[in-house]
Order: sequence, then structure tokens, then C-alpha cells
Amino acid sequence: MTTQPQTEPQTTPDRIVAKMVVGGRSVDAADGQTFDVLEPATGRVMASAPLGGKEDVDRAVAAARQAFDDPKGWSTWSASKRGRTLAKFSALVKAHLEELARLESRNVGKPISGARGEALGASLVFEYYAGAANKIFGETIPVSKPGLDFTLREPIGVVGLIVPWNFPMLMASWKLGPALAAGNTCILKPASWTPLSTIRLGELALEAGFPAGVVNIVTGPGGTAGAAIAGHAGIGKVAFTGETTTGQEIMRLAANNVKKVSLELGGKSPNIVFADADLEKFARESPYSVFDNCGQDCCARSRILVERSAHDRVVELFVDATRKVKVGDPSDDATEVGPMVHPRQRDRVMDYIGIGQDEGAELLVGGTAPEDPDLAAGTYVLPAVFAGVSNDMRIAREEIFGPVVSIIPFDTEEEAIRLANATPYGLSGSIWSRDIGRALRTAKGVQAGVLSVNSNSSVHTEAPFGGYKMSGIGRELGLHAVELYTETKNIFVDLD
Ligand code: NAD
Repeated sequence: MTTQPQTEPQTTPDRIVAKMVVGGRSVDAADGQTFDVLEPATGRVMASAPLGGKEDVDRAVAAARQAFDDPKGWSTWSASKRGRTLAKFSALVKAHLEELARLESRNVGKPISGARGEALGASLVFEYYAGAANKIFGETIPVSKPGLDFTLREPIGVVGLIVPWNFPMLMASWKLGPALAAGNTCILKPASWTPLSTIRLGELALEAGFPAGVVNIVTGPGGTAGAAIAGHAGIGKVAFTGETTTGQEIMRLAANNVKKVSLELGGKSPNIVFADADLEKFARESPYSVFDNCGQDCCARSRILVERSAHDRVVELFVDATRKVKVGDPSDDATEVGPMVHPRQRDRVMDYIGIGQDEGAELLVGGTAPEDPDLAAGTYVLPAVFAGVSNDMRIAREEIFGPVVSIIPFDTEEEAIRLANATPYGLSGSIWSRDIGRALRTAKGVQAGVLSVNSNSSVHTEAPFGGYKMSGIGRELGLHAVELYTETKNIFVDLD
């Protein structure tokens, strides 16, 4: 990336001119077009990036195919050598942690502390898959026919990876890590609001020693560049994270060549609190579970389901804790919640706050822009808590993807499970109770891929992550993710 002097008043003085990474080189879009990238804390343009389209995806697929088919290339390297390259990549990401975190913080509006955590997380994911590369192997199977039967785990070939704007670097690592460990070549498309850290990852991948064409980063709109990846006949698999409706469209496009598809989609996750829980611990930790990253988190615990006898106490503790959340400039180490990623996302969240009030829910705190004049230019929304919510209101059913939580009372364990499941989503959730039997019965009853008890922790690099129902298909992270990027070949040998 290079920088160029300020040309217009609404741009930042150090405006970045970002390029795609295709075939081992930094390149412009085939037709030379670019798009502006905003800095949400100031509303200024901080960068331009190439407006890639179908032709750029074709170029990237050709480069990735050539790299995959190279008789001495990436997919023929020993698994240990591939692992060592991933380890070098992980170390480079760690060495550039502060730079990557600053870039991500500015582009996403994410507090710098969270952005550092994300960069470190990406490095650790690459480290995990560096170790996994030479532990991907098949089986021998005692078939009835006399002979030897065994399986091989082989890379799929060229894979398309499409990621959203909320955790750009982390989502990229969740896909690149296992795809590369298994020996695939990759085309990654970041979301247009937040392409910068992913482009930088692509540059660092070249420095780490991935051969040209193994890691390609194509920027451009979802409807053109993204759709070209999802529908491309030269791509064998598409892994997508984003909105459920986009995932549905990707499945339709992927049907074109019966591409393998894995999807990590939206959520409306319940935070279930029984009256016997440690309510103070719940209230201390739970604002983070819904307001972190300004609520732009697929696992956000956006519905608090609370046993009626503890309802008023939980409301009081949670509202108190919410008032203490520090909203401010994302570059400040003390900031806990920054601006929303983009004015369009802020407007969407403000619409939902209006919808909640119109539906008759009671807004107890937040839901407005902060009064601080220093924050006036940014896309800030103060964390909002609604009480008096019923599970059929839109604010309780639809993914808002902002700092908004709905508190809903329940009377019995059965009702808690029924309310938790009364959504098309099934990504994550938490259960708080000192009665471990009740907590585990509830966990078994909730239809979601990622649950936690007396905690809101959803993501562990070593453990599977993904959704039930309309929250997705497949499991990322851990060794489960390797399944998403390999084919199984069965070979029978007649020993007679
Ligand atoms: P989005 O669906 O709008 O976009 C995601 C990506 O898909 C972007 O790169 C976009 O350019 C691309 N895209 C858009 N239309 C496309 C099309 N027709 N064909 C191919 N690609 C297309 O999602 P977003 O707004 O960037 O992200 C927010 C959503 O992501 C939320 O719903 C959130 O819950 C979800 N999410 C899920 C997880 C998870 O792991 N389950 C993680 C993070 C975010």
C-alpha cells in the first residue's frame, strides 16, 4: 500500500491507495475503477480500493488455478512445509500486530483494544492451522472384499472465501487457515466497507513465502465481484460469512457447478438467566456480549431471557452496567464501544430503535447519538436496553446488528427453551444458573451451534463454530474446519 497527499477536504491527510493482490502482485482493477473507503469515527474518506468485478475474479481464478496445478507448486509441497509457511505467516501477522490493529480500528471503527485482540486472534488461528497441516490424514477401512481399503484427504483446488465487515481479519483467518493447511489455493473477497486489513494480510502472505497465486485478495461489490466468485465454474468451493439472505443467494449461485458451500450467517442469540444464577457476574460480563464491536457481532446476545422472579434485579444491574460502558474515539485505549461501521448501518440501527418504541417496548437507556461534540462526526449509537419486550416483536426477532438488547421475562425452564428457539436462527447462546443440571438440560434444549454456561464465550480457535437452522452450514475452527476444505478419496487395492 502507498499513501498520497490529501486532495479533498473530506479525506484524511494520509489517504491510502490500496491494491488487490492477484497472482503474487499488487494490482488495480482490470478497468482501473476504484471506490472510497470511509473512516467511521470521522466520516472522512481514508482510502481508495480497486472496484473489482467479473474480469478481476477471472484473473484471480486463473492465477489460483495455475498455482494449484504447478507440478512443483503449493499443493505438491509436503504438508510440513505448508505448515511452516503458515507458521511464518502467523509470526508476520504478530510482528505487524500494531499496524494491522490501527488499520482495522480506523476502518471498522473498532476500539483499538479490540482491534489488537482481533489481530492477535488471526495470528493464533494461523498458528493453529500451521500445526494442523501435517495432521490431516485418511483412514484404513476393513471392507468385506479381500484387499486393502484406505482414504486420502485431498485439497479441493481453488476455493472462494467471502467475508463480512465486522471482524474482517479474523473472518479471513478462519477461512484462509484451514484452506491453506489443506493445500488449496484461495481467492478472498473482503466486504467493501472494510477491505484494508485483508489486503494487508494478502501482502504479508506474499512476504511469508506463499507462492504467487496461492493467496489472492479481490476487492469489489458483493453483487458483482462476490457473485462472480460464488458462481464461477473454476472455483470448487465457496466459504461465506455474512447475512442469511446473502448466504441464500450464494447457495443459488453455487448450484451452477455444484460447488461445495459452507455458510456462517446471522444470529439472534439468547442470554438465558435463571434466578439462581450469579446475577452480579452475569451483569458484569453480559454488556460486553452484546455491545462489544458496537453490537456488530453474529454471536451478540441480543435477547436476555430472564426468569420473572429475577427480572427487576437483572434489569437494574444490566442498565447500571450499560451506563458505565465507555463509548468514544476508537483510537483511545480506554474506549470500549466505538462508532458503527458505516452511516448506513447506523441508520438501520436507529430505525430499529424507533420500531421498538413503536411496538411498545420501553427504552431504558441509550439508543441516541452521544452528546459529546467531539463525537458528532462519527456514526455513534449509545448502547440501548429495551425492557417490556415480547418475543414476537420485531426487535426480538430480527438481527439488528447494533448495540441493542431486548429483555424478555419467562416463568419456566420449558418456556425459556421455547422462547430461545422461537427464531429462525441458531448460532449461539448462554445459560446462567448455579444448578448445573438445569443449565445442561437447557443447553441440550436450545437449538444452536455454540453455547456457553455461566459465560458468554463463544469462540475458541480449537473448537468448532457454526450455526443450526438459518445460521449456517458447516463448522469453522478446530479440526472440523479442515472438513470444509478437503475431498475424501477412497482407494481399494485388490491384494490377490
Ligand atoms: P453481507 O452478507 O452483506 O456481506 C458479506 C460479504 O458478502 C461481503 O464481502 C459482501 O460484499 C458479499 N456479498 C454481498 N452480496 C453478495 C452476493 N450476491 N454474492 C456474493 N457475495 C456477496 O454481510 P455483512 O453486512 O458484511 O455482515 C454482517 C452479517 O454477517 C450479519 O448478518 C452477521 O450476523 C453475519 N456474520 C456471521 C458470522 C458467523 O460466523 N456466523 C460472523 C460475522 C458476521
